[in-house]
Amino acid sequence: MAHTCRNCKRTFATELELDLHKDTCTEGQLFCDECGERFAERTATTDGWHYRCPTEDCDGKGIGDDIHQVENVRVAKQ
Ligand SMILES: [Zn+2]
Ligand SMILES: [Zn+2]
Repeated sequence: MAHTCRNCKRTFATELELDLHKDTCTEGQLFCDECGERFAERTATTDGWHYRCPTEDCDGKGIGDDIHQVENVRVAKQ
């Protein structure tokens, strides 16, 4: 079974390859504290102001609230 990155739609043979890819995928710049998923900015907002987690059954919302920029988190960890 192929594993597809839902951000950029690339496919990988194994789940491990997909996990490694997710760390570098340029399409997944945001992540949600509520469900831990990563996703592309354009899937979370339509107006660049109101953000909402695109994951079904997740009510995470708000940039800097439930939803964070992956880049900012990496900087904060250093
Ligand atoms: Zn990707
Ligand atoms: Zn979420």
